[in-house]
Amino acid sequence: MSIVRRLNFPLHLLHRNHYNRHVTSSAAASIHHEPAVWTTAPLSNVEPAAESLFHVTVDLSDSPDLAASHTRAGQYLRLRVPDVTWPTFLAIASPPKIAHTGGAFEFLVKSVAGSTAEALCRLRRGDVVELSRVMGDGFDIGRIDPPEKFNTVLIFATGSGISPIRSLIESGFAARKRSDVRLYYGATNLRRMAYLDRFNEWESSGVKIVPVLYQPDDGWTGEHGYVQDAFTRAKQISNPSSTGAVLCGQRQMTEEITSILVADGVSGEKILKNL
Ligand SMILES: Cc1cc2nc3c(=O)[nH]c(=O)nc-3n(C[C@H](O)[C@H](O)[C@H](O)COP(=O)(O)OP(=O)(O)OC[C@H]3O[C@@H](n4cnc5c(N)ncnc54)[C@H](O)[C@@H]3O)c2cc1C
Repeated sequence: MSIVRRLNFPLHLLHRNHYNRHVTSSAAASIHHEPAVWTTAPLSNVEPAAESLFHVTVDLSDSPDLAASHTRAGQYLRLRVPDVTWPTFLAIASPPKIAHTGGAFEFLVKSVAGSTAEALCRLRRGDVVELSRVMGDGFDIGRIDPPEKFNTVLIFATGSGISPIRSLIESGFAARKRSDVRLYYGATNLRRMAYLDRFNEWESSGVKIVPVLYQPDDGWTGEHGYVQDAFTRAKQISNPSSTGAVLCGQRQMTEEITSILVADGVSGEKILKNL
């Protein structure tokens, strides 16, 4: 049965959009210097992805060098919106192959009231933005290769942190050659969960998806609470030395999951983050 059907998700809610205040301090804390070079590029798509979340696609057909510089899932850049003071950090949600063959970067953007992200989500196809160079080393999957040696990969994402995880799953990391690949994906409720329409494709690539809802609507029978609680209930790490993990999202989640995994014997070097 399709996972969307199993989740009993009302698809029309994907098209509603609300604005919620949720300030993360990490972006401001990560600002070092303004990038020297900005590339101007038009938007080819802005559409709702879930409540408060938008798919944004930037057309890079006139900027092949920038497109080619996306080499690994987990990389990010800064994006500037005309007439808005501060650029915003965004992870690239699409896999590098989309940049190389389709000439585009896709993003998943949370519309935070008063932020540059909100201004971006109000733009339309054809509007122009500015992009910094691609930054970060991305997820170093080589650290949990070969798949025969690291047969358990545990992936954890919350909110818009699913964006670089989408890039990773769709880039491929030989999930089918591993015996236990799980994605614990936390959101407030199903209406705020992006990429439901991709779950079947991700599962058929070998990734078991465990949605974890913090405030589920009535009738939800899946995992409930924080991602770290759901993982603690399930755990089942058969062999810590053949286990790797990938984390992206809320800082408290990534810190607590890291502590749990390390306490269980998973090497810190095998716990991948994109920052
Ligand atoms: C690496 C990274 C990747 C991210 N990826 C995504 C993503 O894929 N999708 C997503 O929705 N969000 C992503 N974010 C979060 C996003 O960048 C913003 O933090 C979020 O949209 C909230 O915006 P904000 O304006 O409230 O906060 P921030 O951008 O954190 O800014 C905080 C405050 O500082 C001010 N400020 C901003 N820049 C400057 C500056 N240069 N000098 C002085 N003051 C400044 C702003 O006015 C704001 O009030 C990412 C953050 C990081 C660090």
